[in-house]
Amino acid sequence: MKYEAVIGLEIHCELKTKTKIFCGCATGFGADQNTHVCPVCLGLPGSMPSVNKSVVEFAIKAGLATNCEINQYSKFDRKNYYYPDLPKNWQTSQYDLPICKNGWVDIDVDGEKRRIRLTRIHMEEDAGKLVHSGTTIKDSATSNVDYNRTGVPLLEIVSEPDLRSSDEARAYMEKIKAIMEYIDVSNCRMEEGNLRADVNVSLRPVGSEQLGTRTEMKNINSFKGLVDAIDYEIERQTEVLEDGGHVIQETRTWDPARGITLSMRSKENAHDYRYMPEPDLPPIVTSDETIEKYRKELPELPDARRARLEKDYGLSSYDAGIITSSRAEAEYFDAVVATGADAKLAANWIMGDLAKNLNEAELDISKSPVEAERLGKMIQLISKGTISSKIAKKVFAEMWACPDDPEKIVKDKGLVQITDVSAIEGVVDEVIANNPKAVEEYKGGKKKAIGALVGQVMKATKGKANPQMVNQLLAKKLQ
Ligand code: ADP
Ligand code: ZN
Ligand code: MG
Repeated sequence: MKYEAVIGLEIHCELKTKTKIFCGCATGFGADQNTHVCPVCLGLPGSMPSVNKSVVEFAIKAGLATNCEINQYSKFDRKNYYYPDLPKNWQTSQYDLPICKNGWVDIDVDGEKRRIRLTRIHMEEDAGKLVHSGTTIKDSATSNVDYNRTGVPLLEIVSEPDLRSSDEARAYMEKIKAIMEYIDVSNCRMEEGNLRADVNVSLRPVGSEQLGTRTEMKNINSFKGLVDAIDYEIERQTEVLEDGGHVIQETRTWDPARGITLSMRSKENAHDYRYMPEPDLPPIVTSDETIEKYRKELPELPDARRARLEKDYGLSSYDAGIITSSRAEAEYFDAVVATGADAKLAANWIMGDLAKNLNEAELDISKSPVEAERLGKMIQLISKGTISSKIAKKVFAEMWACPDDPEKIVKDKGLVQITDVSAIEGVVDEVIANNPKAVEEYKGGKKKAIGALVGQVMKATKGKANPQMVNQLLAKKLQ
């Protein structure tokens, strides 16, 4: 039998508010253990929470940016469970009246567009962190609890089970990440756990409308982990079903080192949590005016920006998609173009040499040693014919290593393109005289032989001759 994968994601997104969701403690990452704590986030008896207004604002903006309806009457609920990183023994979350519901985002995989529905977005508090003396809880003599993260605001963004492959899941999570970055509500640093997903996977026979039994993998915090975990789980479940077995509904962990998922516990159900309304917090009532105000404050979102780059600059949909996949990259592109540089060349350089260098140096584009202004100036030198694209690669490498302007680099290193016909002609004549074999082949009908001659001219001029002129001159002289 052929099976189809069905995937739904619950994405946890840490908000970049200065203070926690229900108290005034700082949210910053990397502070000494238990320095960002107070009676409220430690859950001491008698302490009273109050809602951080920025959290509500960010949540509503996230909902508007993902086409959700906003629940103008929303409330908090207690989700009860016991774990040492949860000092109150309940997590303040939202249950039946989440702040946002019924949204969607569009994704693109291999040129095919699909709409993924969002069930809901709700606000909740993060838990603390266990710090083990060993590598895992099992091989540790002691474990500390760090409550700095307790009460850091989270959005939980829940999708419908609309995803059908690991590639779609990745595209969806990338889109959510891009949107949260664009609207500036989260740092979305996956390596710091700002963005992590619980991934639900099931299989069903192709053509069936019914959902199969799912497994859930918790806290996946990289795109690679997401793809690998889903692919592994699809394979594992396929084998179970093909052997005539049943998939067990359970929570599994993804072990990136071993590349496998492991059974952790049987899946809990909502009633296990004994949800109840949070009595210490008033409901959140949002007026039409507030919603409209937040809507007006939203920036241009990734899809709109992509469409604009296609329309205004004639970029391909693929290129525009890559450039707009992060706000920082889109802004960098706009800044390059604002210098007067050609947009298509700008896109090529950003996705080519710049991306390669940034990748190797593990740098974000916002920290690029080659600033948008300098790249813009360099691209203009190409457009004006001062340097060839090939020489530009050298100039770019120099710019990467030093803060000089491209004009200065070109001048200092003598990289100006040779466009003087007589200068090139001299070299062309020499090359023709010194390469009788290639000349003969060319004249004998082997047109490709001209490549070797062009190469010789470029070599003799250290790559500085204008390649079009070299081609034309050679073709003319060999007629
Ligand atoms: P929880 O996991 O907290 O019990 P839900 O039952 O609402 O919450 O489901 C959470 C996620 O699991 C959603 O993203 C949903 O789309 C997805 N999901 C639900 N059923 C299935 C299924 N049979 N196969 C794959 N994903 C599913
Ligand atoms: Zn606190
Ligand atoms: Mg779940």
